[in-house]
Amino acid sequence: MNKVCAIFGGSRGIGRAVAQLMAPKGYRLALIARNLEAAKAAAAELGGDHLALSCDVAKEHDVQHTFEEMEKHLGQVNFLVNAAGINRDGLLVRTKTEDLVSQLHTNLLGSMLTCRAAMRTMIQQQGGSIVNVGSIIGLKGNSGQSVYSASKGGLVGFSRALAKEVARKKIRVNVVAPGFVRTDMTKDLKEEHLKKNIPLGRFGETIEVAHAIVFLLESPYITGHVLVVDGGLQLAI
Ligand code: NDP
Repeated sequence: MNKVCAIFGGSRGIGRAVAQLMAPKGYRLALIARNLEAAKAAAAELGGDHLALSCDVAKEHDVQHTFEEMEKHLGQVNFLVNAAGINRDGLLVRTKTEDLVSQLHTNLLGSMLTCRAAMRTMIQQQGGSIVNVGSIIGLKGNSGQSVYSASKGGLVGFSRALAKEVARKKIRVNVVAPGFVRTDMTKDLKEEHLKKNIPLGRFGETIEVAHAIVFLLESPYITGHVLVVDGGLQLAI
């Protein structure tokens, strides 16, 4: 196989589950997060010869350096997963400008920077596949999450436009939009209360979202698609 996949946000949560699914298939992986120790621990757990890198996706220089390191140690990147993300929930009137900016920079600008860096190598190779992790909140909106919704909604527009832009180069761009998934991001939410609104009656597991991500990564005839993985939540809200 020997295909190379960059997983931003690969140290924890959904990104880490993607790595756990892809490693046994023979992919060579780069697990990327700000916290290098956590990325290293996640890579070590996989066994094999995977790379752990520290990068803040919101910083252009970091992203550029990360792609240089991946090319040096693993070769050209064929697959890209953008699972790095943060939330700073709260009513807009109470949201500090720094929290507004950090969500847009990490969730939206960050994916734009990694996609642009990947484009250079994927265009050269005349092929590649990208999955950006959005959110059901980016499609439906949610009170107290206007900025997060904007970052994830923007990611859908960005991904669909980019899919059109690079399809002729045989590069595909898709989005997975999860509902509530059990990770660090949702650990303070009250599942008992929220699950009443979820038709399948529970939060999702990271591996369930990872399956959808890997499916889109590997599906040669799907591009510009938004795959919702939410236990039916969108039917209820
Ligand atoms: P986690 O908080 O479990 O993991 C987030 C990952 O992103 C970590 O690896 C973290 O590492 C990394 N990360 C965060 N900020 C940056 C940054 N600036 N630069 C590089 N890496 C960063 O989150 P989830 O796994 O839950 O979320 C993954 C994606 O799925 C996010 O985009 C999230 O918005 C989305 N999502 C999650 C849902 C859920 O219910 N959990 C629902 C819908 C969407 P580090 O902190 O070391 O940088």
